[in-house]
Amino acid sequence: MIKKLRGMEDIFPGGKLDSRKFLKLADSCREVAEKYGFHYIETPILEETILFKRSVGESSDIVNKEMYHFLDRGGRDICLRPEGTAGVVRSFIENRLDRQGKVYRFWYFGPMFRYERPQKGRYRQFHQFGVESFGEGSVYEDIQTIGMAKEILEKLEIPYKLKINSLGCSQCAPTYRQKLLQFLESHREELCPDCQRRIETNPIRTLDCKNPSCQQILENAPKLQENLCSSCHSEFTQLKKGLEQLEIPFEVDSHLVRGLDYYTKTTFEFIGVGEGVGSQNAIVGGGRYDKLVEYLGGKPTPAVGFAIGIERILELLSPQKEREGVYLGALLEEGVPKLLEWAQKMRNNGEKVTINFQIKSLKSHLKSADKGGFKKVAIIGEEELKNDTIFEKEL
Ligand SMILES: [Zn+2]
Ligand SMILES: [Zn+2]
Repeated sequence: MIKKLRGMEDIFPGGKLDSRKFLKLADSCREVAEKYGFHYIETPILEETILFKRSVGESSDIVNKEMYHFLDRGGRDICLRPEGTAGVVRSFIENRLDRQGKVYRFWYFGPMFRYERPQKGRYRQFHQFGVESFGEGSVYEDIQTIGMAKEILEKLEIPYKLKINSLGCSQCAPTYRQKLLQFLESHREELCPDCQRRIETNPIRTLDCKNPSCQQILENAPKLQENLCSSCHSEFTQLKKGLEQLEIPFEVDSHLVRGLDYYTKTTFEFIGVGEGVGSQNAIVGGGRYDKLVEYLGGKPTPAVGFAIGIERILELLSPQKEREGVYLGALLEEGVPKLLEWAQKMRNNGEKVTINFQIKSLKSHLKSADKGGFKKVAIIGEEELKNDTIFEKEL
């Protein structure tokens, strides 16, 4: 028997990843995004490896350890996308949308690939739903974007905790970086090997190190929000005010930084707090990335977005318990030709109908329908055939 690859999952009804829940989740995300004026964009799953090296950052774990990259038959270095933003930005620039002077709001949904150690809720092929807004630099766009993510989680009845932070701009971030570097240097020996490496490669990432002793040391590190320039500071104040006005509870987490290098100003994360969430799991991650479009060769364009990990949310959704659809069957041979006709009538009325073409007793039909999780049974027997009616029973 040929088996699926490690860390990859089939999605089918009743599977570990249930396809009905999967689609319901995708639909909910899509409906909310469309309601906010976002439109669908689809970019190729394969891109040139250089795109991710530039945008996600050479020093990131994603680029260093987790990318599925290989040479194609033409000798091109290509890569299965590890995340969604880079491709959308590449498309935005390549199609010259950065030259239109308009605001563009997109949503995307699709598989992403990362070669990481498979564990609960993490797969090597996984799905992300994400939104990206281009051309609107106002902090109100950030507030609206956070509000949209919140609406999706509420629609799915997933309890959450929102964390926010500001990463500063090209004015204040370098100054902060210097202060942090000084602090890290003076504690170099006490930090874990990963953090010691980060001092050279990506010092800001030390802030979200999971190592308890690093966390204790970094408690005393200079804080981002105390080192913002006046414009970043007032935008961060506006952000907090805006969230309060929308009654979205949040906490400021000065150690919330992004793994991707191009984020600026607002950054946020929704943590799932429902049952079945063992460790505190980030289910939505997002923020502003005003520098990326320019960095990838486009016209400087402010941008903000978020991505939702579909598989991680799937595990938080309660199993589908509600009965659904109509089970349609016949008690005798002559009733079978009538089944399609009746099914059509019901389908035209908007019902979901599943036909069982096997002749069975009423008792046996009822048993099958019950086991199948149907809401209603419809049966054609001798009597019904004669009167051109149908026997119906709610389960
Ligand atoms: Zn600033
Ligand atoms: Zn550390």
